[in-house]
Amino acid sequence: MDYQHILQSIQQDLQPLAQVGHQADYIPALAAVNPDQWGICINTLDGTEHALGDSDVPFSLQSITKVFALAMSLSLEGDDLWLRMGKEPSGTAFNSLIQLELEHGKPRNPFINAGAIVMADILVERLNNPEQAFINFVRQLSGSPNIDYNFEVARSEHSVAYLNTAIANLLKYHSNIHGDIDRVLRFYFMMCSIEMSCRQLAHAFLAFANHRDPFDHAGFSLTSSQVKRMNAIMQTCGFYDEAGEFSYLVGLPGKSGVGGGIAAVFPGRYSVAVWSPRLNSKGNSVMGMKALELLTTHTRQSIF
Ligand code: GLN
Repeated sequence: MDYQHILQSIQQDLQPLAQVGHQADYIPALAAVNPDQWGICINTLDGTEHALGDSDVPFSLQSITKVFALAMSLSLEGDDLWLRMGKEPSGTAFNSLIQLELEHGKPRNPFINAGAIVMADILVERLNNPEQAFINFVRQLSGSPNIDYNFEVARSEHSVAYLNTAIANLLKYHSNIHGDIDRVLRFYFMMCSIEMSCRQLAHAFLAFANHRDPFDHAGFSLTSSQVKRMNAIMQTCGFYDEAGEFSYLVGLPGKSGVGGGIAAVFPGRYSVAVWSPRLNSKGNSVMGMKALELLTTHTRQSIF
């Protein structure tokens, strides 16, 4: 498969979308990002790497870090995790409160904010130094010891965290947060603030494309069945209220973030990370979604 050639033709086909959408501006620090950037990187399980565009520029991972939080939480809690959250698509925005109230403080899935805030609570409760453990895990997965939090982005998001604070309060009211709300939210915003390049992100997701080798990173291990199931949750819940659309257009398990990144995997074959800050109305990268749609079309490879 000539991935490099395919990436070049994708880049050309994306040009009409270059000015479509807006970067996230509800987090002040993200509003300052240059929206006219785009990068992509594919890592194959047989050891090749193909990158194009701004694939070495670090960007804010935001909700993509929910996948790392799920891996750590599943490793610590096993199936008990599902006592505190579901695994059904929400069909609502990532920061919606409506469903959470109707469903008595049990988030629909780990990949909406409410689910990730419960996972933040679990990690704060179970780990001595959750910030250190989380970054160690991410650094090991990506093979890049220099990956870090962006404190300014975390602080900036915390300063306007009206909705996430409301979510956390609702969870606490229903006893689905055990710890102190401020502490849990501080950790949640730190997780979201991690920055990586497409190259680093594709590398980090390779472990989720691999169901055969043991998953054991920085002391957090998963069975191959758990890794398989994480893919299932990415497939059904990775794109908020656009999970069906992404599945329809692209057909790969993946996860997006409001920093404009998307990471996806082709189980048994490759991982891919794409980034472009301009988002559609659902909070997903316009060029990112299109690039992945073109990738599965041009390669004629899909899990379906
Ligand atoms: N930190 C963001 C928030 O909580 C993450 C949202 C996202 O990337 N969809 O609003």
